Order: sequence, then structure tokens, then C-alpha cells
Amino acid sequence: MRTQVPQYLQEVLQACERNDEGALADYIPELGNVDPNPLAVAVCMGDGTVYGAGDADVEFTIQSMSKPFVYALALHERGLEATLQQVGVEPSGDAFNDLSLREDGRPQNPMINAGAMAVHAMIGGPQAPLRERTDMIVDGLSRFAGRQLSVDEEVYASEFATAFRNRAIANLLRNVGIIEQDPRDIVGEYTRQCATTVTTNDLATMAVTLAMGGRNPVTGEQVVPAWVCRYVLSVMMTCGMYDAAGDWMTTVGIPAKSGVSGGILGALPGQAGLAAFSPKVDSHGHSVRGVRVFEHLSRDLNLHLMEVQEARVRLLESSREVKLRDGLARHLRLRGALYFGSVERLLRELADIPDEDTVVVDLSDVTHINPIGRRMLLDAMEQLGGTGERRLVLV
Ligand code: GLN
Repeated sequence: MRTQVPQYLQEVLQACERNDEGALADYIPELGNVDPNPLAVAVCMGDGTVYGAGDADVEFTIQSMSKPFVYALALHERGLEATLQQVGVEPSGDAFNDLSLREDGRPQNPMINAGAMAVHAMIGGPQAPLRERTDMIVDGLSRFAGRQLSVDEEVYASEFATAFRNRAIANLLRNVGIIEQDPRDIVGEYTRQCATTVTTNDLATMAVTLAMGGRNPVTGEQVVPAWVCRYVLSVMMTCGMYDAAGDWMTTVGIPAKSGVSGGILGALPGQAGLAAFSPKVDSHGHSVRGVRVFEHLSRDLNLHLMEVQEARVRLLESSREVKLRDGLARHLRLRGALYFGSVERLLRELADIPDEDTVVVDLSDVTHINPIGRRMLLDAMEQLGGTGERRLVLV
């Protein structure tokens, strides 16, 4: 049996692909040359299961979606206090490339370019050789993704040649002593960081690593400690979508980060990492179709963080055999709340049971079922009933 998630993701893409609004981010000349049509979505569950739909193989540059991960690396390497001395955590309500610093000289937050360049410059300490710092960063991003990532030198060269505004920001940072290095060099290497290439599957895996307290569920590696993730997710929630952060919070409600290449990633604490990609962006630099995909996911799967949910406790307590009047049956006892993340687990558990077996799903310890949990469970029962072989009994 296949779980219904892949088919659902296809439907979301179908609903979003008609939208043709937005424009390529051609302030980076190379991004002005890309195919505007690809559309992809990926979801990585807390146990490392990845679902993808659409143009999942298309690679694109990570751009600003690198910022939360490099912030995580800086918090881990330099510690909280030293990092807070270099960059604040206040939403600026300004565009990503805003040309201003706080009164104390610090950039407002690590999600805007000023903060991201300050954070970039911290990795390895101020004396670290430039390229070595970037290598450390690409290596760190790779550990979040669970595979070795590399830099698109053409996008890098094209952006660096025209990065006059970022140079102005870096000059400001150097002037107030937030960076000690040559501003031009820092812009260059930050631009290289942004030109690291990824797919939506990579982004979903990176996001779920943040969502699961720093442990990459695909590789099993603890990339950063849990406290770092709490910080990073908070900053993503308040600052990740820049001057659209309030809109995003109210409509989608998932800590997220966008990039001008057309990607958006979202990290839902304890549940999943999500990613969408389509190159045309709006005036904030957010993928137009990507925002639509996230609106669908949040609404359909009840993912909004401010949705009131009961404590999410363990789902599957035991799996043993019980005696029915006409033979033996598998017994799955569910505990706690049924919501998207926990029912998806249950569906996979059911998929592993041979088709001819009878299964008793015991709901007596279920404390809460949210609408999507209920629908997924009922759909699964209907599908199983349709195959005729297996019996599914809810008690
Ligand atoms: N490299 C881009 C820049 O610095 C990243 C911007 C973005 O993705 N919002 O302008």
C-alpha cells in the first residue's frame, strides 16, 4: 500500500502551477537566465522519510536559505553570547537587502543580508583564511543536507560582479567593526555561500534537521545541539520572511526561509521539514508559487504552529497479535494525538503488514484526532476495504 502523501503533493502542485505571477530575480544576471517553469515540493518526515513531487531533480542555488544554517553553525561554534554581540534577533520589517544597522552598530537579525554577512565572517574566527571559511560553511550545509553539496561558480561570479549593494552593506559593517576582514572579500565569500546548489529534497532534509533538534534523521548525525535549533527556528519565525513575516506568520505559521532563486523551506518543530521551489519571485523575493504551496500545506495538513493541539505523545505503543473469533489479528495500539505526522507513521506501519492479515487498530488511548488525522485514517480504511484482502478493524 502506498501512503496518500505523494498523491496529495501532486494535487497541491496542480493547484499551484497555473499561477504565473512574479518575475525572475534578474538583479543576479545568471538567475535572469534560468527556466522559469519548474515547480517542486518535498516533505521530509522526522524519521527521514522523504516525499517529493514535481521537478524534484532540478538543482538551484540556496541563496538566503543558507542563512539559518550558517547562523546555526555560528551559534554552535562561537556560542550564544559572542553571536549575539555581532547580530541581533529583532525583526526589521525591512527588505532583505536593507542598508542600515541598529544604533549599536549590529545588524538587526541574521536573516537579512547585513546580519548574514556578519555571521558568515564569524565562522572559523576572524583570522580564518577566506576560502577555508567558505569550505567549512559548505561542509556544514552538507551535513544538514546529508550529502556533499557544491558551489555553482557561474551564479557566484555573476552575482559577485554586480553585488554593489552588498558591498555597501559590508562597508558599513567594517566601518562599525562588526567585521574585521576586507569587506569586498566577505561579500565574495558570502556570495559563494549563497551559490551552493541544492534540490527541494536537500532543503526538506536540512529543514527537518532543524525541526528535530539538530539531528539529521537521514544520516543520524547530530549536526548542531538542540538549543541552537530553538534559537534558529525562533529567528526564522520572526525574521525569515523579512518584510512579509507577519503575513507569513498569520497565513502559514511555519518557521521558514526563502531565497531569491525561488526556494522556500519550512521547519515544523517535531514533525517535518518542507520545501518548495519555483523560480519566479514576488517583490519580497519569495517564490510566488512556493508561497502558494506552503499555504496549501499549512491549511490542508493543519500545520500552523498556532493551531491549538493536544500534547503530541507517542503514537504506537505496541504491535502484538490478538485473537479474534475467526483467527489471529495484528494489534496496533495508538496513544495520544492523531495528526498529520502521527497518522503518516501509522500508514507506513500498515503498509509493512502483509496484505492478507487482519489488523485491529485500537484507538482507546487516543486523546485527540485533528481533522487531517481523521481524514487520512478514514481514507486508509476505505483504500484497504477496496482491496478486499485485508481487514482493518477500529476499536
Ligand atoms: N545572494 C542574495 C543576496 O545577497 C541572497 C538574497 C536572497 O535570497 N533573498 O542578495
